[in-house]
Amino acid sequence: QFPFGRRLPCDIYWHGVSFHDNDIFSGQVNKFPGMTEMVRKITLSRAVRTMQDLFPLEYNFYPRSWILPEEFPLFVAEVRMMKDSDPSWKPTFIVKPDGGCQGDGIYLIKDPSDIRLTGSIQSRPAVVQEYICKPLLVDKLKFDIRLYVLLKSLEPLEIYIAKDGLSRFCTEPYQEPTLKNLHQVFMHLTNYSLNIHSENFIHSDNVNTGSKRTFSSILCRLSSRGADVKKLWSDIISLVIKTVIALTPELKVYYQSDIPAGKPGPTCFQILGFDILLMKNLKPMLLEVNANPSMRIEHEQELSPGVFENVPSPVDEEVKVAVIRDTLRLVDPQKKKRKDVQIILPKPFERRQHIESCKNKVNLRYSYVMCYRCQTSEHVSEANEELPGAGLADRPEYDSTRSPEAGLPSLCLKQVFPKYAKQFNYLRLVDRVAALFIRFLGVKGTTKLGPTGFRTFIRNCKLSNSNFSMASVDILYIDITRRWNSMGIDHKESGMCLQAFVEAFFCLAQKKYKSLPLHEQVASLINFCEYHLAALDEKRLVCGRG
Ligand code: ADP
Repeated sequence: QFPFGRRLPCDIYWHGVSFHDNDIFSGQVNKFPGMTEMVRKITLSRAVRTMQDLFPLEYNFYPRSWILPEEFPLFVAEVRMMKDSDPSWKPTFIVKPDGGCQGDGIYLIKDPSDIRLTGSIQSRPAVVQEYICKPLLVDKLKFDIRLYVLLKSLEPLEIYIAKDGLSRFCTEPYQEPTLKNLHQVFMHLTNYSLNIHSENFIHSDNVNTGSKRTFSSILCRLSSRGADVKKLWSDIISLVIKTVIALTPELKVYYQSDIPAGKPGPTCFQILGFDILLMKNLKPMLLEVNANPSMRIEHEQELSPGVFENVPSPVDEEVKVAVIRDTLRLVDPQKKKRKDVQIILPKPFERRQHIESCKNKVNLRYSYVMCYRCQTSEHVSEANEELPGAGLADRPEYDSTRSPEAGLPSLCLKQVFPKYAKQFNYLRLVDRVAALFIRFLGVKGTTKLGPTGFRTFIRNCKLSNSNFSMASVDILYIDITRRWNSMGIDHKESGMCLQAFVEAFFCLAQKKYKSLPLHEQVASLINFCEYHLAALDEKRLVCGRG
């Protein structure tokens, strides 16, 4: 640990909280700039909403949400309208304060008028969301899934999903929400940090039982009940890829601001925690994304009143150790260098002796760490005999003398992007809008577009004409920028943020390509802009040569 930073450069920096924990100029860091901001409840809802506007069917895995305070009137009006058109609709909503975590400040309501206005509504930014009333139950209990996702690179986009995750259970049998049970958090909220305080909480001593289990144990159970587990996984993969696609445009704006192209800087990767709820019909719904998921593999146990001890949690260990180990394997900068180096390992008998005598033999599950410490990677195959893919090193066709990875279990992280890129690339429209935005930002290190940048964008893309004068361009810029800035998201810089630019872009697209569906309007305008910018670049290149 280097609480005051470190002078000598490292290959990999493991920051505790955010990208900005230390100043770094090389290597790889385990956080992306702006990720914490991007996955806050309001920002995530906004990013998904933009995608829902373009692709409503593809993005129906996120509950209908409204942002408070600014969308409170819209929330009231839309609920009233839906109730009028379907009097049998008896919805429940969940109110979640922005930036909250671990169930903090969350409550359920039956009617918009029940929103608590402690202080003024202005002072409590939050998201109000349709509550999923019919979740899948196991042992009559509601549960959610925590899946670990590695965003290995933003450009090109590389996403990995861990093959196993955690299922976190409520501790009171579930009933559909009624006015009587709305406040029962142990029935409705699956947060571990809340349920641990219930007297019904069961610390799991294996992966199949208790209040926290592996997701694979749930899948086994579902599969034995005849559920289509393959389809469920494919739906989950699609949810993860689509969510990351919704986040990438703004992440790229943060990235170029913190690590400007052409300047020395690190590359980034990040482990994200996806919280997913399964509906009764097995449809996965996204609840939230965590930029800083807990990697604890122990839990506190009260030995006697007021006396706590940390004890290992086998379920956390099973899932999280593999995620960190394989993240390091995937980003390992030595991997390439090592390819051709032969490592001579001790013979099996010597290695067994070494393991038996090794002081680090506290817990063989951690042996991959020891193997690096003790320089005997053979520990690994011993330690992992019970894990999937274990024992490979003992197979004659598997040459363990090639690499220290040879004895490790197969990767728990499965690549899903670019593997499935073909299926999802058509969704990456806002990414292309963000590329236009970044091109016109001008000054390196900024995240907002000034009026001159916006005018240059319009001019270079040939978007102004007799029907759309430069005066109208300025009015559009001022109107949209003022509204976004009045929402009070980021006052540090003045100018037009990416979301405001996206709104302006959609506006221009609707104007230019009236009769098409929105996503086709936007795609056509992107093509139009890219075409004119490519022509301009070509012209500049020729002039430059001349
Ligand atoms: P936090 O960051 O505070 O944990 P979440 O968005 O994860 O906030 O919500 C907390 C819990 O509330 C979730 O784990 C889940 O059990 C429940 N929950 C959240 N949103 C919904 C929803 N739309 N429908 C049903 N349950 C929900």
